[in-house]
Amino acid sequence: MDANGISTTAAQIKVYDLFENKPCSRCDGSGQHSWNQRDGSKCFGCRGFGFKFTKLGQARYDFWFASMSKSATELLPGDKIKDPYSKQWYTVVSVTLHENGTCDISTTTMGWKGHKADTMWRVAQSNEDKLAKALAAAEYVPA
Ligand SMILES: [Zn+2]
Repeated sequence: MDANGISTTAAQIKVYDLFENKPCSRCDGSGQHSWNQRDGSKCFGCRGFGFKFTKLGQARYDFWFASMSKSATELLPGDKIKDPYSKQWYTVVSVTLHENGTCDISTTTMGWKGHKADTMWRVAQSNEDKLAKALAAAEYVPA
């Protein structure tokens, strides 16, 4: 436990609770709403989470997410990156930067050619790093 009574083992902590949130008013915090073909019974007000971040909570969540991300220019061989479209993880083999601001990224299974070099990629973290960065983000004060 830390000074705020927060359990600091990654397995026990609900990281989202570190960021100010309030119950979703659409579903009263249940995460469920009337059934529809596209989303099933998942509440689309909160995407099934049952809560929404406050403005500050969202800013801190975004800061946390950014602290776990790198631009293509910062990627290193061995980094595991998440394709935002397929949600699949890929292990970086190499990144080749081009003068026109694009890059080629090759991974152990596939690659991207001519990708924008300043795109931010979510990089896999150990549970310890993830939690440490979440605790840091929970103290973040937006400008
Ligand atoms: Zn909801």
